[in-house]
Amino acid sequence: MDKLTIDDVTLQEKRVLTRVDFNVPLENGVVTDDTRIRAALPTMQKILKDNGKLILMSHFGRPKGKPEAKYSLAPVAKRLSELIGRPVKMAPDCLGGEIEALVNAMAPGEIVLLENVRFHPEEEKNDAEFSKKLAALGEVYVNDAFGAAHRAHASTHGVAKVLKDVAAAGYLMKAELSALGKLISEAPRPYVVILGGAKVSDKIDVIHNLITKISHLLIGGGMAYTFLKAQGHEVGNSLVEIEKLDIALNVMKVAEFSNPRKPVKLELPADHVIASSVEGTDAMPHKQVAIPAGKLAGDIGPKTIEHFRNLILQAKTILWNGPMGIFEKEAFATGTMKIAEAVAEATSKGAFSVVGGGDSVAALGRSGLTAKISHVSTGGGASLEFLGGKDLPGVEALTKAAKK
Ligand code: AMP
Repeated sequence: MDKLTIDDVTLQEKRVLTRVDFNVPLENGVVTDDTRIRAALPTMQKILKDNGKLILMSHFGRPKGKPEAKYSLAPVAKRLSELIGRPVKMAPDCLGGEIEALVNAMAPGEIVLLENVRFHPEEEKNDAEFSKKLAALGEVYVNDAFGAAHRAHASTHGVAKVLKDVAAAGYLMKAELSALGKLISEAPRPYVVILGGAKVSDKIDVIHNLITKISHLLIGGGMAYTFLKAQGHEVGNSLVEIEKLDIALNVMKVAEFSNPRKPVKLELPADHVIASSVEGTDAMPHKQVAIPAGKLAGDIGPKTIEHFRNLILQAKTILWNGPMGIFEKEAFATGTMKIAEAVAEATSKGAFSVVGGGDSVAALGRSGLTAKISHVSTGGGASLEFLGGKDLPGVEALTKAAKK
């Protein structure tokens, strides 16, 4: 990576303004999944170990530019304190005179969590004055919020531009860029990409950016039916993006012709689990490709699972993003769970695997396989943009590292 990292900056006794992604799920004021908080622990612990003053900032939900109690980060402060084993002082705002006094009174090793940066409309506008005021709270800037790095907001971009000589990547940011970076370079083959989920449109840039580098593209989930329809198959009431049929046809052509010596094998479901509705109450296996009228496909079928599994087990590099079916419903969950198992098994045999996207990550968690994957990405949108070939503003704004 050509950016400064947390290991390159002096943290001792400094006010270290650290952007984290604490946008975690809450229920009745309690954090129900602390994965994102845990993911930032190595960076936070490094700052504390080096005797820095840890000032944390994050967005939380979509409060539309004004304070709203339900979007307060206070429940996160409580959970963080339990995880890190130290008091975490919750600031009433993210900037202003009172907050300046609060951070100026900090001793090394203390932690302050600033209130939700999105309580101010200037955050999402990347306002220059607002960025300056935020930046004044810190002497060093560390960005560990990979999940927000695709946004050019004040806390992810503007502040880094102000603290331009001391803007460094945290460990999570570094790990994400390193793992995802391997996927966009010449990764060991067979290189298998498994895409699923609802929409072709979300993943089309990823397909285009990776297609010349990979050996197999396995498509399942709702997006597979736009491809099958484009090939002329009957898809019944399955999810189809009619306006994306041309794009699907184009992808199939590119897969075949982008590299004449090594055409990419594009694999679509050959059988399915079908039902009358997304509820799946009358779900049944269906052995043909064509879906009967009045039915929809909610999952890939056993033959497809077996075929995908065999290809995954031969892979040396694997990227998986998006469920193979409507996995929230038990009747349609098998395909996704079996693919999770296959990716974990291939990893245990030496493949390098990356899983991204909220739903695939949740499916992994549900099957207890998270630890068996080489890298589980914490940033859905950010990872898709990075793999799609875009520069991430939150990364671009960090200080360039001196050549070693
Ligand atoms: P995405 O956010 O694009 O990864 O899409 C995830 C969503 O796709 C999940 O909520 C799934 O229920 C949905 N999904 C997956 N397969 C299908 C399918 N065959 N038909 C309809 N929705 C699907």
